[in-house]
Amino acid sequence: MSTIGVDIGGTKIAAGVVDESGAVLARTRRTTPATDPEAIEDAVADAVAELRAEHDVTGVGVAAAGYIDASRSTVVFAPNLAWRHEPLREEVEKRVDLPVVVENDANAAAWGEFVHGGGRSARDMVLLTVGTGLGGGIVLDGELVRGTGGMAAEVGHLRVVPDGQQCGCGRTGCWEQYGSGQALVRWARSLAATDPARAARLLELAGGDPAEVTGPHVTAAAEEGDEASVELVATLGRWLGEGAASLAAVLDPGTILVGGGVSSAGALLLDPMRRAFAGALTASQHRDLPRIDRAELGNDAGMVGVAHLADRS
Ligand SMILES: [Zn+2]
Repeated sequence: MSTIGVDIGGTKIAAGVVDESGAVLARTRRTTPATDPEAIEDAVADAVAELRAEHDVTGVGVAAAGYIDASRSTVVFAPNLAWRHEPLREEVEKRVDLPVVVENDANAAAWGEFVHGGGRSARDMVLLTVGTGLGGGIVLDGELVRGTGGMAAEVGHLRVVPDGQQCGCGRTGCWEQYGSGQALVRWARSLAATDPARAARLLELAGGDPAEVTGPHVTAAAEEGDEASVELVATLGRWLGEGAASLAAVLDPGTILVGGGVSSAGALLLDPMRRAFAGALTASQHRDLPRIDRAELGNDAGMVGVAHLADRS
């Protein structure tokens, strides 16, 4: 049977009908009314109603960018949405009259990759989602690692630099400040401002203004072979590899997948990551190294994963 997966992001709500094989049979989207909790729930219900008009489904999974409690029902806190202790499962169930499960979006994405994406053959897997921020999900022994309060796998807030860059979480030196799209942009803008000759191609793409350089500019220029941009992407890869080695020291996963927008850089990002990982991993000469690869499901990972969780519950 099919289920519906709904991925609530800060700007848009993506919903799809997903079958047992992970195929998305139909999809729709809504703009996220981010400041109004009830309006978000209404928009989710509206998207579900639209999809159900054409498809038989047995349940709904909702992935949201926030801390979800251990019973997978309440959003404790969502940094970019208006939810504080929001009983999201109950509110959506009331509106759609189907069983609902709620999961953190990064966990849902990891689960999607594990069951239907790049982690299909894995038993222990880490997904790093490298977008504007750095998110993650962990599967150990075939189960999502959720923690006592549902707050495990917040890998972006591992501290990697004592007294380092200020992080949005209020602390300093978090991995997200070095292993993310926002870090890449910070370095690129700084280079464009301080060494315009070396950053000539980036400045050209950004219309001459260092402050207008974006992540896609850097990855596009790197793909063209622009030396400075290749080096910026490689720097990001090294930070990812070193942080992943710390995770692997604890978890010993067989597979590490890299998703998110920045993963489109492919080998330009992953080769430096693999090298830094091997260099930083404890006892790396005496063990099989995990497979480090791109995630496969792209933006659908959260939707597909949470739809599978709904089917499984
Ligand atoms: Zn942080």
